[in-house]
Amino acid sequence: MTTNRTFTMLKPDSIEKGNIGAILEKISASGFKIVALKLTRLSKAEAESFYAVHNERPFFGELVEFMTRGAIVAAVLEKENAVEDFRTLIGATNPADAAEGTIRKMFADSMGENAVHGSDSDENAKLEAEFHFSGREMF
Ligand code: ATP
Ligand code: MG
Repeated sequence: MTTNRTFTMLKPDSIEKGNIGAILEKISASGFKIVALKLTRLSKAEAESFYAVHNERPFFGELVEFMTRGAIVAAVLEKENAVEDFRTLIGATNPADAAEGTIRKMFADSMGENAVHGSDSDENAKLEAEFHFSGREMF
């Protein structure tokens, strides 16, 4: 995967609220090309591993519970400066602090249930994309 790609998950709250279409529309309208896409679900072990950096934090149990309670949408997105620009598009981790027009401002309810994930580096984007998609599922 080249470095003009990032990885995103629409989290279970987005799927439960029927926001898949609206969020994908916002992503596309912001100049990101969808090059891989699927509805899937994280196992407990996968969610624990994905957020392992937080495993000592008090919210870790709730985070894993939330991320495994239903379906997610996994996607790989392509755009110049993809990782940084997508982090800007999703907004601050806490939607209360997120800028107007960002995905978390528009679609998230709380710090815990914040609608979307965006990779924080090119290296993690590649690892996360390759975890969810085989070569023939990425275009
Ligand atoms: P993500 O990795 O999901 O894109 P992020 O990079 O904005 O989110 P991280 O610091 O990586 O934020 O935290 C991962 C997730 O853990 C957050 O999206 C949030 O749901 C949860 N989280 C982080 N900090 C807190 C906190 N202080 N209280 C409750 N939940 C938190
Ligand atoms: Mg993060």
